[in-house]
Amino acid sequence: MLQQTQVATVIPYFQNFQQRFPSVHDLASADSDKVLHMWTGLGYYARARNLHSTAKKIVSEYDGEFPGTVEELESLPGIGRSTAGAIAALSMDVHAPILDGNVKRVLTRYHAAEGYPEQSGVKQKLWAIAESDTPKQRVSDYTQAVMDLGATVCTRSKPDCENCPLSSNCKALAQNNIANYPGKKPKKKLPVKTVSMFIFQNNAGEVLLEKRPPSGIWGSLYSLPEGSDNEDHPSPEHVEIHKEPKEVMPPIRHTFSHYHLDISPVRLQAHQNSATIADSDRWLWYPLNHSLEVGLAAPVKKLLSQLSTSN
Ligand code: SF4
Repeated sequence: MLQQTQVATVIPYFQNFQQRFPSVHDLASADSDKVLHMWTGLGYYARARNLHSTAKKIVSEYDGEFPGTVEELESLPGIGRSTAGAIAALSMDVHAPILDGNVKRVLTRYHAAEGYPEQSGVKQKLWAIAESDTPKQRVSDYTQAVMDLGATVCTRSKPDCENCPLSSNCKALAQNNIANYPGKKPKKKLPVKTVSMFIFQNNAGEVLLEKRPPSGIWGSLYSLPEGSDNEDHPSPEHVEIHKEPKEVMPPIRHTFSHYHLDISPVRLQAHQNSATIADSDRWLWYPLNHSLEVGLAAPVKKLLSQLSTSN
């Protein structure tokens, strides 16, 4: 819901829009660039595009008359089931349930309805509850009231139960577990990928880093050379890597939004110094005793700081 100050800010823009397109026919016949221009200041340009398409549809399919059933309203661009219900209930007093975010919160708490509301089974159950709670009479008053209750009393973090007209029958309040409703989104089990990262250290104690390609994870940052095992690692020409002795360090996990990356760091001695790498854009000898101003992949930064304290 918009705050009072926000309402005051957007009203002049709505008035301008309304004056420019006083009827559905004016809006339907307008050029789309003009509609978007007149929407400036109101944000969410998809709404302007949907409004324009809706006006065209009302003119072409409904002879300029706003449709009166929930099904017809739902077929208009940008209007989902809850918005269609709200339009039908508020403007025509039609018996139609609504289930926007605020109403979901009120209903899940009042009925102690378990589950994440966006899961299809839970959503279906909530629509059934919304349907049976919507009265046959004074639908418009009920709809406005339940929307306002969710927006101002049964708020997300600080519900004002003391002043709530539903408090005597609210199950979540009776069970003293309001914070459990609405149910949280279940955490997805992330897949795990594994990689070996090679720490090639020269006699000066520097560690060889490789610049990653510009796209993909850690794009253009410096990272450690990667491979599937220590027989298969990229390294610059003329850098001699000693396969023994090698130290396999404890693995570290780095978590991206869509997977865990389990990194096995393998430390090996190298014979080369900073002066002799030809492809210097790609390769970098990184000193452990002071930091350089280069972007480092997050787990590499962590590994390098572990190495600098252990050296
Ligand atoms: S009593 Fe509290 S939790 Fe229950 S509906 Fe009212 S404000 Fe929400």
